[in-house]
Amino acid sequence: AKAQIGVTGLAVMGSNIARNFARHGYTVALHNRSIAKTDALLENHGGDGNFIRTETVAEFVAALERPRRVLIMVKAGDATDAVIEELADAMEPGDIIIDGGNALYTDTIRREAAMSARGLNFVGAGISGGEEGALNGPSIMPGGPAESYESLGPLLESIAAQVDGEPCCTHIGPDGSGHFVKMVHNGIEYADMQLIGEAYDLMRKALDMPVSEIADVFRDWNTTELESYLIEITAEVLSQVDDETGKPLVDVIVDAAGQKGTGRWTVKSALDLGIPTTGIAEAVFARALSSATDQRVAARGLSSGNLGSAPADRESFVNDIKTALYASKVVAYAQGFDQIAAGSAEYGWDVDRGALATIWRGGCIIRAQFLNRIREAYHDDPALPSLLLAPYFREAVEVGIDSWRRVVSTATLLGIPVPAFSSSLSYYDGLRAERLPAALTQGLRDFFGAHTYQRIDKEGTFHTLWSGDRSEVTE
Ligand code: NDP
Repeated sequence: AKAQIGVTGLAVMGSNIARNFARHGYTVALHNRSIAKTDALLENHGGDGNFIRTETVAEFVAALERPRRVLIMVKAGDATDAVIEELADAMEPGDIIIDGGNALYTDTIRREAAMSARGLNFVGAGISGGEEGALNGPSIMPGGPAESYESLGPLLESIAAQVDGEPCCTHIGPDGSGHFVKMVHNGIEYADMQLIGEAYDLMRKALDMPVSEIADVFRDWNTTELESYLIEITAEVLSQVDDETGKPLVDVIVDAAGQKGTGRWTVKSALDLGIPTTGIAEAVFARALSSATDQRVAARGLSSGNLGSAPADRESFVNDIKTALYASKVVAYAQGFDQIAAGSAEYGWDVDRGALATIWRGGCIIRAQFLNRIREAYHDDPALPSLLLAPYFREAVEVGIDSWRRVVSTATLLGIPVPAFSSSLSYYDGLRAERLPAALTQGLRDFFGAHTYQRIDKEGTFHTLWSGDRSEVTE
């Protein structure tokens, strides 16, 4: 019998997805550049289901039923192009190539166009959930032609995570849309983690709480509206004690955060689209600052000035932090969903944000209770101008605004950096402001560059003759 799906690239992600397909009863053709990985998979997990071992691309393609479906799970970048070329030469019109790696969405747009010109269906699919998700149910964000989803959708939906009987997989839109939303997902993941880090840091530095007690706080928060995978594993990481030193593990880990690039991509795209995705940007920059080791060592003696005193009531400040975390998280998601709307408009993808929130409820790193609320918000109003305006979120933030301000001002007075908490609050204040100092910015731009301005009381475009008699002229 032939295979319903082929997987090429059998490192940790590819082999786990191949096993996931096999466990769901599909016959899976296996291929990897070096045969060792294929054989290791068959030796260790061959019992998971029906696999077809292949060594060459020709054998691999021949092992598949038509239309052929091949999932590529190789290192993103040049490797993906090389593998696509090789496959495309061996495949026939109507066959489907799926790239499940973390491709940059503009690469996916380019690849889709090239494959479509050759009569092949190309699906860029964002896959979230890490290795555990790949094996037991990831969140899958496939883009590409709608027709290909008809043949591919049922397979992907069956191996995806399931929440309340719904698969965490849906067709996102044409060409690069799947990888675009996966990119923003990863950006939101950066913001979520930064906010959690700031909450932890405040409990440590402002309240002098022992790490084990902070772990308990996160465990407790995970039974509230903050319930999420990242809050859950924060409690786990903070509870871990280092065998060698007996200290909390978090105290022996070097405080320099790494990054593989998807957060940076999200921010670059946000800049291009003109969307203020400040929560994600601050999170990316906070990682960069943490890794500027030489500068940080050199700056260690810089003065803090006179610091304020710690909050008197520990319990109430912990509650304030929780509220600030939730409100800032709403802002980060509001911004991320704004970016998705802008990307969707720019590229004509027509992404359904409610459906996206639905498939992020399980199988991915940002899975959270909270996403049910986002799904409802977009369900009630698909054209919602900002998540902050959905009744549920509006109220949640309004109830917590005083706490949020207390946390940001206390952190400032104590010299504790809270870039994500504070920029989220500034964004919120900026969004709701009646007037912004942008009017002055326009005046300055007109002064030095004759960039013109608009008036609040008349139609038209105006310029003041700053170097002349300072009268106003119509442009
Ligand atoms: P890696 O990103 O480490 O890639 C290793 C695989 O790529 C191996 O199978 C390797 O083959 C193959 N490969 C590398 N270069 C080439 C080439 N020039 N030609 C053919 N094959 C090549 O593997 P992961 O499993 O970590 O990730 C796979 C993809 O999934 C990546 O795009 C990654 O970004 C994405 N992803 C990863 C997640 C994770 O948690 N790790 C989560 C979500 C997505 P060989 O064995 O011969 O060296």
